[in-house]
Amino acid sequence: MTAAPERRPERPALDIEAIRRDFPILQQQVHGQPLAYLDNAATSQKPAAVIEAVSRYYREDNANIHRAVHTLADRATAAYEGAREKVRRFINAGSSREVVFTRGATEAINLVAASFGQRLREGDEILVSHLEHHANIVPWQQLCERTGATLRVIPMTATGELDLADLDGLINERTRLVSVVHVSNVFGTINPVERIVEAAHAREIPVLLDGAQATPHAPVDVQSLGCDFYVFSGHKMYGPTGIGVLYGREALLETMPPYQTGGDMIRTVSFEGTEFNELPFRFEAGTPNIAGAVGLGAAVDYLEGVGLERIAAREQELLAYGTQALESVEGLSIVGTAPRKAAVLSFVVEDMHPGDMGTILDHQGVAVRTGHHCAMPAMQFLGLPGTTRASLAFYNTFEEVDRLVKALAFAREVLG
Ligand code: PMP
Repeated sequence: MTAAPERRPERPALDIEAIRRDFPILQQQVHGQPLAYLDNAATSQKPAAVIEAVSRYYREDNANIHRAVHTLADRATAAYEGAREKVRRFINAGSSREVVFTRGATEAINLVAASFGQRLREGDEILVSHLEHHANIVPWQQLCERTGATLRVIPMTATGELDLADLDGLINERTRLVSVVHVSNVFGTINPVERIVEAAHAREIPVLLDGAQATPHAPVDVQSLGCDFYVFSGHKMYGPTGIGVLYGREALLETMPPYQTGGDMIRTVSFEGTEFNELPFRFEAGTPNIAGAVGLGAAVDYLEGVGLERIAAREQELLAYGTQALESVEGLSIVGTAPRKAAVLSFVVEDMHPGDMGTILDHQGVAVRTGHHCAMPAMQFLGLPGTTRASLAFYNTFEEVDRLVKALAFAREVLG
């Protein structure tokens, strides 16, 4: 007789009220209304566990790392390196040598452009996409200006997706790097990055994925994605500002020159020359954001405690509800309608300027982002000056979505 298959215990659905109590900032009123914070793609709010981890670090452990032998220095180093190990596990990197702390996704991309970019020559090509955040355009544009390389662009569609019809033509023998966004901050589109990695790797071209909008919302596994670089920011995944991560494949990082130079990134220094430190310290010159790393480690613990699968499922429910609710608003068009999306709802309303709408919504206690969302090329493609964007997190509620819809109706009355 064969044994019955073992059942994995099901995790009950999230207790949203309890989760909301973890986020002190959500308990307030704005303009006399309970705050409905729907601007999570810009930055997400912090659970008390993160705030307390940062505060505890400064109250109990603060010291510089990797240097002194005293007790506090030991504790600070253990906290910082412990956070690196948590991040390694979180993205399933093969080694903590592949996890470099930066100020954020922007600095991580600039690091790769400055360091890996030194191998570029005139005639080489960098391939990005039309959906990119400015952080994944401008560093490459500047690198191309410095080196005579050319920036090429994967086109987008009217639905806010990548048009990959000519991918194999765009990736060619001159391409030196492909750098694309995993999840779009404007439209929420989850891009088929595995396909891009496969096409690039067929020509042995490395791929950077901008995961700033991916890590807060679903499990990310850099080994199964197969990318060579992966960048993200702590503050979008419930951690502090000023801390982020560059994941880089060890064999590739080993071939790259330092980004910044100074203390901690060296092994020996004399006036004749300098021997650089091993990975990942070689890319972390000077005293890093130790408290930020500790806070990011606490954010990872928090996310894993709630469960990324449950977060993703909850946000898909909010997305489905929000999509339906917004479609019922007269004159409103959702911008970005890919079948695979994170919980980002960008929209325009006939005869209403997004900026005016943002102000009226704020007076109803509803926080959204309006404008070009640091993605001007995507806006230009769609012929829009900007959109209004509600970006949802698992702590948001269906009632908050209803309040957005009500506030939009009110804005129409006022502006109409
Ligand atoms: N890429 C994407 C897709 C983003 O949404 C953002 C932040 N809006 C960035 C990069 C830059 O992140 P940061 O400002 O934290 O460096």
